[in-house]
Amino acid sequence: MGIKICKFGGTSMADGNVILASAKIVESDASRRYVVVSAPGKRFSGDVKVTDLLYQCYESVLDKNTDKFEKIFEKIQARFLSIEKEIGKDLGLQAELDEIKKRILNGESEDYCASRGEYLAGKIMSAVLGVPFVDATEFIRFDEHGLLDEKTYALGSQVLKKYNRAVVPGFYGLSAKGTVKTFSRGGGDISGAVVARALRAELYENWTDVSGFYACDPRVVNAPKWISKLSYQELRELSYMGANVLHSEAIFPVRVAGIPIRICNTFRPEDTGTYILPKVTDISLEQPVTGIAGKKDFTVITIEKSLMNAEIGFTMRLLTVLDRHGISFEHLPSGIDTISLVIDNANLRHGVLDVLVKEIKDAVNPDLLSVHTDIALVATVGHGMAKNIGTSARLFKALGDAGINVQMIDQGSSELNIIVGVNKDDFANCIQAIYNEFFN
Ligand code: ADP
Ligand code: ASP
Ligand code: MG
Repeated sequence: MGIKICKFGGTSMADGNVILASAKIVESDASRRYVVVSAPGKRFSGDVKVTDLLYQCYESVLDKNTDKFEKIFEKIQARFLSIEKEIGKDLGLQAELDEIKKRILNGESEDYCASRGEYLAGKIMSAVLGVPFVDATEFIRFDEHGLLDEKTYALGSQVLKKYNRAVVPGFYGLSAKGTVKTFSRGGGDISGAVVARALRAELYENWTDVSGFYACDPRVVNAPKWISKLSYQELRELSYMGANVLHSEAIFPVRVAGIPIRICNTFRPEDTGTYILPKVTDISLEQPVTGIAGKKDFTVITIEKSLMNAEIGFTMRLLTVLDRHGISFEHLPSGIDTISLVIDNANLRHGVLDVLVKEIKDAVNPDLLSVHTDIALVATVGHGMAKNIGTSARLFKALGDAGINVQMIDQGSSELNIIVGVNKDDFANCIQAIYNEFFN
């Protein structure tokens, strides 16, 4: 029998009752032998994730604000102790919490602090299931550049295969210096994928609070259509562009081994969920679009210059300016006499935009340069788009009819996506208009 890896997200670990429901899911299938867990997430809208509280603890120690630290740590402690109570077993959490508190006060790193939510969640799940706890630092390794080290897979296989079943905390591993290091936010999904690859699992199950992937974010469009299956490539495009049901980098470990992912709902375990597969072969001719996703907070710098295409080294000079400031770009759409740089606002430190504009003017001497801050990007994704003539015409007509001004267009060379840049205030309307055109 093949192995299934179950990863439970923060919503599936939020309180004692849902942890017991998650454990029941594991116990209902003997092939669910390895479990990866996130820190307790939000129990209700407006609640604070344990990971966010841990980051706040770290900040308060940095600021030498002991009162603030005590208040926040108290919230974390209360949360874990109420989980212990709901589970109805002595899990030894008080001693663990005391030790963590001592270490944070002694100046442990930000990543150590942030990782403790997963560490404690792992201890809880291990005790509930009666299955060994294997710390992620024993096999998830990062290299000196902070990237996942390839040796993780062989080491993971060696360490985990010593156990018939195991619980592993998500989100972190060991840095090249031998300290705790986390993935980026939401990275428990990557840990699950790493364990799946190390053990050559037959399936990576990602348990969350929705019954799979929807055609768009259910917080933006009311009750969007459920997607039964999508390809690795479509998942990568959608998750990178904001469909945060799965971390956009979770695909890489499983892609190499061709392991399917299933997104399933802890609160409705009988639902089929969404399967993410290496390839989706039965592309529908009637349904060109698989899904829509978007992200806010981008800046677009558009440069216009006649005969730009004939000017040798033009793009190189433009990109050298970004390189000099260590800034990466998201997209680089271009026409005959225009080119746009689309940059995530997170990369534009205070005041750097003005410097970039000045240096770009000096470097390429444009006829016109315009800057739009507050841009949202919306990606329409689907393998069917290449096969359906007129998809982009439908998309742009729908946006025009909805009165949405498109500030930028980029179509991936694989014809798998069309990305539009719109004003941040048009974000929800833009997604709704595209959804209505292709799904209603
Ligand atoms: P977890 O705590 O289980 O890791 P996340 O909050 O990370 O959960 O991911 C699940 C959430 O992703 C859903 O509650 C939903 O609001 C959001 N989401 C965003 N885009 C989509 C989408 N296209 N399909 C389904 N859920 C989506
Ligand atoms: N707990 C971490 C976060 O909130 C990681 C995760 O949930 O996957 O980002
Ligand atoms: Mg998540």
